[in-house]
Amino acid sequence: MPLSAADPGRDCPLCPRLVAFREEWRSKEPGWNNAPVPSFGVDDGRLLIVGLAPGLRGANRTGRPFTGDYAGDLLYQTMLDFGFARGVFEARPDDSLTPIDTAITNAVRCVPPENKPTTGEIGACRPFLTATVAAMPRLRAVIALGKIAHDSVVVALGERMSRHKFGHRARHNIGALSIFDSYHCSRYNTNTGVLTPEMFRDVFSDVREFLDSDAR
Ligand code: SF4
Repeated sequence: MPLSAADPGRDCPLCPRLVAFREEWRSKEPGWNNAPVPSFGVDDGRLLIVGLAPGLRGANRTGRPFTGDYAGDLLYQTMLDFGFARGVFEARPDDSLTPIDTAITNAVRCVPPENKPTTGEIGACRPFLTATVAAMPRLRAVIALGKIAHDSVVVALGERMSRHKFGHRARHNIGALSIFDSYHCSRYNTNTGVLTPEMFRDVFSDVREFLDSDAR
């Protein structure tokens, strides 16, 4: 099954509040994506990066995860530095940035007001995350960006959150997969020093080492 088969349709009706927000922005900005943001990357990748949700003027505008706001600048540069992408990231869906061995998605596919999805919305969107994991037959590692993404991945993999607590640079083994946690690479977290670029690179370094040793 291709990765795209795990994506919701553009008019997914499951979250009334997010549908209303989506419709509001379709009226205000008809040139924007204003729809669930599809996963981006390689169907047979060994790494899946899971964020929280599209940013209003980032992925919700451009239609590609982490594209168009600060979080993407840090994420894609770090992916390039560790061999998980090639090309040039120019914050546009038609740039030459190409993931290597990796796909990128969000725990919640539609932009939530103020970047805050409800528990019900996270649960409603989880089947698409489960389907995305299932669509990647070679998957070995997940980078969970922030606690909400971490928790949703844990539940999507059939485990209890209480058995796997989020922690920056923590690693959790669930079945054949290893989950690597990182604080979310948002501008807020980097501006406040919660996450430095070096801390983010440490997580990618861990994953690079894991996948390289896994291949041997
Ligand atoms: S957040 Fe997910 S489940 Fe909710 S409407 Fe959007 S695509 Fe559908």
